[in-house]
Amino acid sequence: MSAATDMTPTPASGKAAANGFATRRTFAIISHPDAGKTTLTEKLLLAGGAINMAGAVKARGENRRARSDWMEIEQSRGISVTSSVMTFEREGITFNLLDTPGHSDFSEDTYRTLTAVDSAIMVVDAAKGIEAQTRKLFEICRLRDIPIITFVNKVDREGRSPFEVLDELEEALALSVSPQVWPVGMGTDFQGCYDFASNEFLYSKTRANGTFDSVKPMSGIDDPELTKMLPAHVAERFHEEAELARDGYAEFDTDAYRQGHLTPVIFGSALRDFSVDQLLKLVARYAPPPRPQPSDKGAVSPETKDVSAFVFKVQANMDPNHRDRVAFVRFCSGHFKRGMKLNHVRSGKPLAINNPIYFFAQERALTEEAFAGDVIGIPNHGTLRVGDTLTEAEPFRFTGLPSFAPEVMRRVRLEDTMRMKQLRRALEDLAEEGLVQVFKPMIGSNWIVGVVGPLQLDVLASRIRGEYKTEIGFEPVPYSTARWITSDDEKKLRDFMKDNVMQVAQDRDERPVYLPKSDWELRYARERNPDIRFEETRELV
Ligand code: GDP
Repeated sequence: MSAATDMTPTPASGKAAANGFATRRTFAIISHPDAGKTTLTEKLLLAGGAINMAGAVKARGENRRARSDWMEIEQSRGISVTSSVMTFEREGITFNLLDTPGHSDFSEDTYRTLTAVDSAIMVVDAAKGIEAQTRKLFEICRLRDIPIITFVNKVDREGRSPFEVLDELEEALALSVSPQVWPVGMGTDFQGCYDFASNEFLYSKTRANGTFDSVKPMSGIDDPELTKMLPAHVAERFHEEAELARDGYAEFDTDAYRQGHLTPVIFGSALRDFSVDQLLKLVARYAPPPRPQPSDKGAVSPETKDVSAFVFKVQANMDPNHRDRVAFVRFCSGHFKRGMKLNHVRSGKPLAINNPIYFFAQERALTEEAFAGDVIGIPNHGTLRVGDTLTEAEPFRFTGLPSFAPEVMRRVRLEDTMRMKQLRRALEDLAEEGLVQVFKPMIGSNWIVGVVGPLQLDVLASRIRGEYKTEIGFEPVPYSTARWITSDDEKKLRDFMKDNVMQVAQDRDERPVYLPKSDWELRYARERNPDIRFEETRELV
């Protein structure tokens, strides 16, 4: 890939030298499983000089496929954790790539990760177009005004026509599209990619294995040099397509992109390295630096002098031999230095951050400083929870990290009743991570867990077995979901809870929830109790 780059990779350890938030690009990759996110992640890290060895991220992607492999990977915590955030530098830009779990069952965790990014790359399989999970994640990005660059992957295989893919993007997502890099032939005709902005032809000298290794500057799409390099039918088709592509779609416009109205589109092949460099350059040049973050005291600008940050993810038992947990923290303002004492707003206590960790592709290291946009891990013993705010000066709270109503509910059955303490601990830890939600019924002693997708139950049981040496099973419950109940009228709320005592529980923060048996019952309860709010999400703090 080196041929395409006019930037010299900087070792990630040069981070401390970088200056300030304006150079930060904090982003995530969203996609449907199998579209190529793992491959692209690895290639971006390679392009950024963060890893020297192909295959580091790979193991993870391939293992993720089968359910049993999922468990195994969940148990060998090391791999997935080093990938929760990946930091690398190039040409003075610090990239913080946050990993989002690929499986649709983990949307809550994904959602929270997306609260910590400023932009996203959407990977689409050229043959499949927009798939269910892509669309869902796209909607989340839109809700949060996160701008998106689209990478249409696998153009080296037979796929749909590029126009079909673009039109689908435009129609399905109601978004202007602006093609930046175009495939020259696809499938068996694939010859390389053409970068409209730089007028460069990206190709492979060593056609045999067909990995991108060469760049040829052109005077334009109809440069006779290009025609000479291509089989006649591919050249002819490319000229036609390229003209249409440039005339038929929106010009790239930074504001429209940053406001989420337009997505630049890059066609490429992650597997064969085509257009990965162009993608990284686009992120470096146009993806927004840290944006103001919403809080209960108004939006906090990254230019604010005082340090502020929030926890968007907590991972328990990163090292199975130690009961450690790491809180992943995104900085929103100020210049953080190691050893700083920050206010932990929820507890009102100061917290000295002595061991902040940066995560590179395969390793982690202590960091001396961080700016808005940066993500670090803070090892702790349960002090830090998802949604927590840390501030240097006046306390306030960052907002917008919701908890979602679960769609699958089960009662937890403990096989060995002597292990109640371990179970309680396990459920607390794993609820903290966002793997499950835990409810304690007002009547009865068994915990009820709620998840967004059923695969989470398997992961839950497997992790409790592996990490807490406790066997659990699940029993069906008659409830279909949970709704947080609140009211301005305390008495009405108390009466409702009394009248429905069999269907009221507390979440782990002792907030009351109503457990309806069906949609119909929920509607009925709503109609009968207009003074009570039945909320589908709740803010975490
Ligand atoms: P993920 O599930 O989105 O992380 O997808 P992976 O990165 O694991 O890729 C899924 C499959 O597609 C793997 O077999 C990859 O080797 C393959 N793949 C990824 N990118 C490309 C590409 O550009 N071209 C081709 N032909 N295959 C690719």
